[in-house]
Order: sequence, then C-alpha cells, then structure tokens
Amino acid sequence: MSSAALTQLSEEDALFQASVRQFAREQIAPHVREMDEQAHFRPAILEQMFALGLMGIEIPEEYGGQGGTFFQSVLAIEELAAVDPSAAVIVDVQNTLVINAVLRWASEEQKRRWLPRLAKDTAASYALSEAGSGSDAFALQTRARLDPGGDWLLEGRKLWITNAQEAGLYLVFANANPEAGYKGITCYVVERAFPGFQVGRKEDKLGIRASSTCELIFDGCRVPAANVLGEVGKGYKIAIETLNEGRIAIGGQMTGLAHGALQHALAYAKQRKQFGKAIAEFQAIQLQLAEMATQVEASRLLVYNAARLREAGKPFLTEAAMAKYFSSIVAENVASLAVEVLGGVGFTKHYPVEKLYRDAKIGRIYEGTSNMQRITIAKQLLG
Ligand SMILES: Cc1cc2nc3c(=O)[nH]c(=O)nc-3n(C[C@H](O)[C@H](O)[C@H](O)COP(=O)(O)OP(=O)(O)OC[C@H]3O[C@@H](n4cnc5c(N)ncnc54)[C@H](O)[C@@H]3O)c2cc1C
Repeated sequence: MSSAALTQLSEEDALFQASVRQFAREQIAPHVREMDEQAHFRPAILEQMFALGLMGIEIPEEYGGQGGTFFQSVLAIEELAAVDPSAAVIVDVQNTLVINAVLRWASEEQKRRWLPRLAKDTAASYALSEAGSGSDAFALQTRARLDPGGDWLLEGRKLWITNAQEAGLYLVFANANPEAGYKGITCYVVERAFPGFQVGRKEDKLGIRASSTCELIFDGCRVPAANVLGEVGKGYKIAIETLNEGRIAIGGQMTGLAHGALQHALAYAKQRKQFGKAIAEFQAIQLQLAEMATQVEASRLLVYNAARLREAGKPFLTEAAMAKYFSSIVAENVASLAVEVLGGVGFTKHYPVEKLYRDAKIGRIYEGTSNMQRITIAKQLLG
C-alpha cells in the first residue's frame, strides 16, 4: 500500500477531522498562550469539548456518546495537538484510557451509571503511577482492604495524575492482595465526593502546562463493591491493555504537535524577508522544511498503522511502541527546527513554537518512557 493510501481517510473520518481542526483553530487557538501562562485549562473550552462529543468519542449512542471509533479518537487528539497538546491529552486520557477501560471491563449496570456522565459533563482520570512506581507500575503501594460491611477502603497516594483537577471520576489502581503481587491489583472507580479522597498538590511543569497533573490522596477512602471495574485481582490486565492502546494516541498527539510546528514554520518562512527575499526562497530553509515534513509523514504513518491494526483486532503491541517512540522523537526534532526557522521570535512567547518545543518533551515520558517502548520493541525482536 502506498503512503498516500495509508494516510487516506474515509469521507466520514475526513469530515470528523475537519470539524475538530476548525474547532481547535477557532475556539482553542486564541486562548493557548494564556492557558499555558496561567497553567489553567479554560472550563468553557472543556464544556465545548463535551458539547462537540470529543469527551465521549467511542461511547455508543445508546449511552449518550458519539458512537465513533478508536481511530477517530486518535484523529481528534492529533488535530487538537496541532493547536494545543494540553487539550489533546485531556481528550486522550478521557477516551483512550478511561472510556476504553469502562467499555471493555464494566458490567452493563456500571456502563449505564458512568458512560452517560462521561459523555455529557464528567471528566475522568486514570490513576496508576505513584512516587515509588512509574515504569515499574505494578510495584504500586496503594492498598485496598475489604471492610466487614462489604465496602473497600483505599489507602495511599497517586502521583502525576492528568485531569485530576477537572475530573469527577477516577480510575484508581490499588493492590487488594499484596501477597499475590501484581495479581492483587484491582481497578476501582472513585467518585470525587467519596469520603477519604482528595486531590492534592498540582505540579508546575515544563510543558502541557494547561493540563492539570496532581497528586491524589486516599485516606481510608470508602469505595462500594459495585465500583470495582472488572474483577478483583484483574486490575493489572486492565492497566496493561489500556496503556498499550493509549500510547497509540500519544503517538497521535506527538504527530499533531509536529504538524502544528511545521505549519507555523511554513507560514513564517513565506512572509519573513531577509537579504531582500522571503527566507522560504533560501534552499537551506527549504531543506529544513522538507526534513520536517518527511518526519511528520513518517510519524503519522506509524501511528495510523498501529491504530488501524488495533481497530482490526490484529496484534499491535510492537507497532504501538514504535509509533509512540518515533513520534516523540519527531515532535522534539520538528518543534526544535521550527524554533530555528523562526529565528529570534521562535525563541519568544509571541509565537507558538516555543511552547510546542516545551510540550514535545512529555512524549518521551508519559504512558511509558522511550526506554520502556524500546524494551517492548526489543522483546519482540529477540523473541
Ligand atoms: C505530565 C505527566 C502526566 C502524567 N499523567 C499520568 C496519568 O494520568 N496517570 C498515571 O498513572 N501516570 C501519569 N504520569 C506518570 C508517567 O506515566 C510516569 O512519569 C512514567 O511512566 C515514568 O515513570 P517515573 O516518572 O517514575 O520514571 P522512572 O520509572 O523512575 O524512570 C526514570 C528513568 O529510568 C528509566 N528506566 C526505568 N526503568 C527502566 C528499565 N527497566 N530499563 C531502562 N530504563 C528504565 C526510564 O526510562 C526513565 O528514563 C504522568 C507523568 C507526567 C510527567
């Protein structure tokens, strides 16, 4: 299949992509700088993202969602990231981690309880990492103890939790049977109002500053048995399987970021004049632009390929790891080149490429660091 065919979208996907692009450019772009400076995501934009269905893309229509596909979630994240990678990660966590897990693991009764809220107005978080367990996620120390009354009591702290400030629901991984090791890990759905739960310190970050990243504190947090997602002791499976899919969407986020940086560089190169002509007329600038475009295209191909394999129910683990690993390199490279093409102004906050350059760094860290992606790829190579 030629590359043109691989990045070709169906009519429906192309319309969807165009609508997200228009929304991002018209409604988000004017506020990106201010949200970055204030490290705060405008509630009105979050409301608009709900109204447009972007916070419930894959939720079936019978539960109030859009009835869309995983591939469309990736497309939406890519388009949002071209304008604001913070908006993209909010949509990423909501759709490809939380809703994905609920769709696959919740009972019918639980779906009826949570999906309509997630589609309509409730942002959600995915809480796996802790201070002592990042790459080694299953070493988590948050504990769940069964109360004689049948409820679970959660004790511990989570760190680095995206969407924590805005969320109403939290998917929380805790160990209900530490003697069983990772086979004690269980996934609980925690409501923000549950007694014994609070959102703690918010991180002050290098990039994606408008996306909230907070600590979660569980101090004897009481969770009804009806809020266990899947089975007790099967949380590790939920965590692995959702993260395997989520990282394809992070590939989409990084591809979108790189695409956004390229567009800014192109526009600037055509209008900036030096030595009596537009800098786009200098072959050295053309080579830089060509390099950026090639990297963006290669990144997109890897991401779409992994997303389509997942959609088709085929193995995608290695392809997803390659997509995330490569696209995060591309995002850093392309954003860096964009800063150079813009020269001095590229280094200032007057143009968006400085922020995209800072935002790109997160692609090599969350949802599995670059080292962890390469370990996954090497395992497949070596058998
Ligand atoms: C902005 C942000 C948002 C996040 N959002 C969430 C969220 O919503 N939910 C959530 O659960 N988590 C979230 N995280 C946590 C994120 O997934 C972890 O930071 C990440 O998995 C890395 O873990 P760590 O920070 O503990 O680093 P560590 O695991 O301590 O890694 C440190 C370094 O050691 C390397 N390393 C570790 N083990 C190995 C190994 N076996 N072989 C080779 N190298 C290794 C890593 O690659 C890295 O370079 C977020 C983090 C950030 C910064």
